[in-house]
Amino acid sequence: MADTETRTGIGVSPGTAYGPVVQVAPPVRPPADEAPTTDADAALADVKAAFAAVASELEARAATADDTAQQILKATALIAKDKGLLKAAGRHVAAGKGKATAVAAAVEEYAAQFEALGGYFAERVTDLRDVGSRAVAAVLGVPAPGVPHFTEPSIVVAEDLAPAETATLDRALVAGIITQHGGRTSHTAILAAQMGIPAVVQLAGATGIPVGTPVAIDGDSGVVTIAPDPGLIAEQHARRERRAAALATSSGPGATRDRHHVALLANIGGPEDAQAAAPLDLEGVGLFRTEFVFLSATAAPTVEEQTAIYRRVFEPFGDRRVVVRTLDAGADKPLAFADLGPEENPALGRRGLRLSAERPDLLDSQLAALAAAARETGADVRVMAPMVATAEEAAWFARRVREHGIPKAGVMIEVPGAALRSEHVLAEVDFASLGTNDLAQYTMAADRMQGELSDLLDPWQPAVLDVIAAACDGARTTGRPIGVCGESAGDPLLALVLTGLGVSSLSMAPSKVGIVRLALSMHSLPECQRLAALARAARTARDAQDAVRAEADHDLLAVL
Ligand code: PEP
Ligand code: MG
Repeated sequence: MADTETRTGIGVSPGTAYGPVVQVAPPVRPPADEAPTTDADAALADVKAAFAAVASELEARAATADDTAQQILKATALIAKDKGLLKAAGRHVAAGKGKATAVAAAVEEYAAQFEALGGYFAERVTDLRDVGSRAVAAVLGVPAPGVPHFTEPSIVVAEDLAPAETATLDRALVAGIITQHGGRTSHTAILAAQMGIPAVVQLAGATGIPVGTPVAIDGDSGVVTIAPDPGLIAEQHARRERRAAALATSSGPGATRDRHHVALLANIGGPEDAQAAAPLDLEGVGLFRTEFVFLSATAAPTVEEQTAIYRRVFEPFGDRRVVVRTLDAGADKPLAFADLGPEENPALGRRGLRLSAERPDLLDSQLAALAAAARETGADVRVMAPMVATAEEAAWFARRVREHGIPKAGVMIEVPGAALRSEHVLAEVDFASLGTNDLAQYTMAADRMQGELSDLLDPWQPAVLDVIAAACDGARTTGRPIGVCGESAGDPLLALVLTGLGVSSLSMAPSKVGIVRLALSMHSLPECQRLAALARAARTARDAQDAVRAEADHDLLAVL
């Protein structure tokens, strides 16, 4: 039995879990001594069959996956069907390279091009290499890389998980997830929280933990204990029970102890997420990421197709609010039918509302479909734009929304410029929602996909809190509501700070709603305001979190 050892990463999906380690199989590489190709036609046929097998395996997994997972798997399957990739592999085969070597060379050529393009394309490199590694395994006739077959609840450990892998994990068997890389707002982290699986990212040396080693993970604090002693497991178990009992004591609309209402809402990615979230104790949807529905679409969906999808999202919520974000395409969320071509710096380029300005046809057809689905279901639909930077942009968007007969138009505040000028931006619309994932990225000039920059991307950074505070102050002057729908809304201690800063709604992965409701119910609004002041007065992100922790209710800390 290994010695007990404690390491700390970043907790991205709450809860504790215990189980043996299952290591995700590393990518398969071609053998260095692979025989050269002598029959190019036969070899090309094998390579073609390998890519086709990879595509159909991913599509088969998509068929049984839920919404978000389905789109990601289909998008990855599209890479395996890419004609250019096959052609590149064919060129290497024709030049005499072995089949596996040819596939790997074609993938690396593509990866180099993607990396040079940066932004969204660079982000797709993980998926591209995943496809390449599966195709190499297929031509070699060896088991595919990735999550191995296992039958008892386990902790899945990987260097990094492709979103496609995370999305297809069996919830009944995956007790927890640990990755060595990955960031707090990466797709993988968002999906793990959406699936309710405790997860820790950025754990040093994770891939070196031997298979079968028992580990205990804490998805709140990010602490991972290797070979924990039975005392710790019993303590975590007791804490899980205490937490469940504590969560059972609070229900209904979110409110502070002195009855200041803060709406608790769900982040969703499509109709199946809506089905899963609607029966839960929450007040509606605070962020429907519409682009998730179309990640694998090659052509723009028609108004009728979109209307049918939106109806399936609205119906389960009855008369509860559903806040829909118009397509946030570009940068890390590419849509094939809304591609404006390569850019030097896609995260700073024509993404979000800027893309809608270039392609108003896409915005108009989406608004027409949202209006039709809202009419047909009678739902309380509110529509907001991503990546708004100025008051003029907000006005342009609000006019278009209202022209379609949708009464409530809003903006996401995720650009520091818009946060600092929120009074003017909000004067043009009915509400705002802080996208703290991007707001942290742009405030700290740190790419949110870059796991190594997690410390800078921490929403506890006092500079990020100052920018949020400025946005709330501006909103207060206008009397218009401002909420949060970034990952920070699901951190119970940060939720107290955000409430103290003045937000009136918090939208998060449904698995996080219970603990946030409990945290709010234990503190009064003046206490939240004091915690917010303490956090902002701190010098570092760590100090801000420690200051709040020191003053928060002890009964809450006991179940975190
Ligand atoms: C955000 O940026 O905080 C946000 C909620 O949007 P997304 O994570 O989809 O960019
Ligand atoms: Mg965003």
